Parts: sequence; C-alpha cells; structure tokens
Amino acid sequence: MPKTRYDELTWPEMREAISRQPVVILPFGAVEDHGPHLPLNSDNIIVETLCLEAARQAPDDMLVMPLIAYGLDEHHMDFPGTISVDMQTLIDYVADVAGSAARHGFSHILIVNGHGSNAPIADLAARSVVLETGVVCGAMSPNAAVDPALAEPTLSDMRRSGPGGVAHAGEYETAMMLYLRPDLVQMDKAVREMGQLKRRFFNWDHPEPSALSWQDWWSRMSESGICGDPTVATAEFGQALFETTVRNLVQFIRDFRSLPLRSRRDRHSSHSGEVTPWSS
Ligand SMILES: [Zn+2]
Repeated sequence: MPKTRYDELTWPEMREAISRQPVVILPFGAVEDHGPHLPLNSDNIIVETLCLEAARQAPDDMLVMPLIAYGLDEHHMDFPGTISVDMQTLIDYVADVAGSAARHGFSHILIVNGHGSNAPIADLAARSVVLETGVVCGAMSPNAAVDPALAEPTLSDMRRSGPGGVAHAGEYETAMMLYLRPDLVQMDKAVREMGQLKRRFFNWDHPEPSALSWQDWWSRMSESGICGDPTVATAEFGQALFETTVRNLVQFIRDFRSLPLRSRRDRHSSHSGEVTPWSS
C-alpha cells in the first residue's frame, strides 16, 4: 500500500509518486476560539482527520501534505489564543506550498479547507497556482452539514439544532469533535448562543444562501465565541457527518483527479501556437 502522507516519502519514493500522479491534498486549518467547550485546534483536527481518513480509504488516489495550521483570523483576535496571519501573506504562503508540488510535476493539487474564513484565501491561492504553473489546482471545504453536494438526505434528519445552530462551534463542529476527540470536549461548558443576524439579504446560517458577503469582528456578535447550538450535539451525529463527508470526499477527489489538463492556445492570430504558463 503506498504511503499517503506527503512528507513521509523519501525523495526517490516521491519521484515514483509523481509518475503515478495522485492528487496532492493540502489541508488548511486555523487556531482560533471555539467557545468555552472546544479547543483552539478544532478546525485543524477536523480537516486533517477527514483528509487522512479519505487517503486511508483511497491510498492510490491521494497524498496528504502537512496541514497549514494557521488561517485568516484577525476577526477572532479579541478571543485569547487565536493566531492571525495577514491575508496577503496567507494567499502567497498557501500558493507557494501548493505551487511547490506543481513545480515537482504533480498535475492535480487540491486545497482542502477546514475554516470558513479561509475559503476566499484558498480560492485565490489555487487560482494563483493555476496561473503560475498551469496545473489543475482547486479548493474546497468539506462540510457535509452545510454543503448539499457533500451531504446525504439522512443527515438533515439527524440534525437537532434549528436555524443558526450549525454555524461556528455549534452543532456541527461539536458533534465532529465528540466523535473524533471526545477527550477535548467539555460539554458541561457548551452554551447555545445565536448572535448572528438574519436578514432578508444576509444570512450566515448554513446551509441557506446569502446575497451579502460580510464577516464582522467576532466579539461584536458572540459572548462565548459560539455562534450556534452545541448543546444538542452528539457523537452519533458526528460519526454520521464524518463518515458521509469522507465517503463523498473520496468521490470528489477521484473526480477531481480525472479533470483534464488542457493546453492554452494563443488566439491572437489563426496560426498562433500553444502557450506555456511562463511564456505569456
Ligand atoms: Zn471551526
């Protein structure tokens, strides 16, 4: 069985892996407050475990890079312990890490994001890698509680919180942590706090869409750091979420791996030739 952790390979093993072209997965997390009942590394634990379990189930299809443990988090800095990285630095850093894999010859690289606010950073970093190297590089956030494409109908039947209950450190993350790391969850400190506004054109409650993109300072809307209802979370729901997400993530990655790598063409004249990423 091939190794699935990118940095556990030797360089000759890496040369062989490049010839096989698994998808290179870059998990992208955060260190931030998750209420009084969950640890700061909740996003990191959830996204890394999802990626490693997907790789365990499909070892020929992916290689998992070491996690990027810090994310876009300035808006959480009023809560002790949060680590914030400048947003432009973060785009460049993520693009450099993913782009390094491209420079070694990997053709398909996927940034797998576990922290909501990282999503635009991951998107822009992936786009930067495409423009600089020409490989297929994309980003996604694997959350079966909020993403209909990754969910299954049975999950919505199992959800116990009402509108606004999933959000941040709410039912979703607490359930996942109760399943993955119950030793780190202090359920006696979990509180229900639904501080997010719900308006006609702004709605932060997953999975309903919102026309307005807006992220306020976290301390302006939450006392506890929670936006949602963790009190109803169960390990059983966490297990269902985890297993569904992994199953669909494996399918997602196999589909991603089959995306074609097409060549650019210079259309300025009828007989212009192929364009390499670095010749434009
Ligand atoms: Zn989180």
